[in-house]
Amino acid sequence: MVTQRVVDFLKTRRPDGPCLVVDLDIVRENYGNFEKALPQSRIFYAVKANPAPEILRLLVSLGSSFDTASVAEIEMALEAGATPERISFGNTIKKEKDIARAHTLGINLYAVDCVEEVEKIARTAPGARVFCRVLTDGAGAEWPLSRKFGCVPAMAVDVLRHAQKLGLEAYGVSFHVGSQQTDLTAWDRALADVAQVFDILAKEGITLKMVNMGGGFPTRYLKDVPTAQSYGMAIFDALSRHFGNRIPETIIEPGRGMVGNAGFLRTEVVLVSKKADNDNLRWVYLDVGKFNGLAETMDEAIRYPIMTGRDGDEAAPCILAGPTCDSADVMYEKTPYPLPLSLTIGDELFILGTGAYTTTYASVAFNGFEPLRSYCV
Ligand SMILES: *Cc1c(COP(=O)(O)O)cnc(C)c1O
Repeated sequence: MVTQRVVDFLKTRRPDGPCLVVDLDIVRENYGNFEKALPQSRIFYAVKANPAPEILRLLVSLGSSFDTASVAEIEMALEAGATPERISFGNTIKKEKDIARAHTLGINLYAVDCVEEVEKIARTAPGARVFCRVLTDGAGAEWPLSRKFGCVPAMAVDVLRHAQKLGLEAYGVSFHVGSQQTDLTAWDRALADVAQVFDILAKEGITLKMVNMGGGFPTRYLKDVPTAQSYGMAIFDALSRHFGNRIPETIIEPGRGMVGNAGFLRTEVVLVSKKADNDNLRWVYLDVGKFNGLAETMDEAIRYPIMTGRDGDEAAPCILAGPTCDSADVMYEKTPYPLPLSLTIGDELFILGTGAYTTTYASVAFNGFEPLRSYCV
């Protein structure tokens, strides 16, 4: 359902063209739910999910910290009022000059996943805290993050030992179970690996302090997902199982789970057509597509709920595509999307659950289409 605040905004402001409207009340509620679900964990919002200044300012006021991936994201978080102590540089792949800049800005918490990156940090941010990311299999995630980030736990031991030797503070271990993770046991498997790294290093006299449990918390698209509370309980159980009564400091980095369901993308039907008289599937073309915010429909990974003014009329599956001249700009074809047969050119549609990974994934001007406009209410 589109919230009344969003409906009112569109009615009074009448923005032209497709746009994303984020309801900040929902972000506030999501933040509260994470706080309640994991009261012992610090929340580092993953800025990349949606860096709108209004969202960052709201989260600053609620007490959030921020996971950033670049100097630009660090500056956005600072601009919104976060102190450097509340910002981590969580990308494991950083240019040395960006680490130096972050260090100058006062950032003191960095992600690594190899000794090469540790050496960069030792050179440019001496004495900083580092945490090493370990690989996870991403099983159960709808948008898995695969093998690009992290190392095997045995290597994490070497990486952190090396960091300590170079005068950095070996601070902890991180992982990300894959985005839109609906398997509650995913954190347990990762935490088992993390606990081993803690144990091995403790025997050498290196006491790690922190586990960064990453993001992965889902947002509701078409299927129900477990509540923040059930995630909280599963994670707390896993922490107790693997760390006993010596549970370290923990942080979580929700992105999608913080803003996904707060976003409503208003779009319009540009064309409904068929390729042959006897085709049974219609093609429905919208004024947004893969290049204007719906990048996560790649491989049809994320399947958004769509609302039309004709819901309730007889529906039939259709192929849903975007407006650009790239044939890759098709959202749903392998699994066609059911939409009302009465749907017609000019109809307004709402794509729900679009608060995360939409505005930042929109192209600058492919085919002259402007980036997705966004508003916060
Ligand atoms: C993208 C990212 C997140 C957020 O992931 P979600 O699945 O959107 O919650 C958290 N941490 C890191 C390091 C990330 O790269």
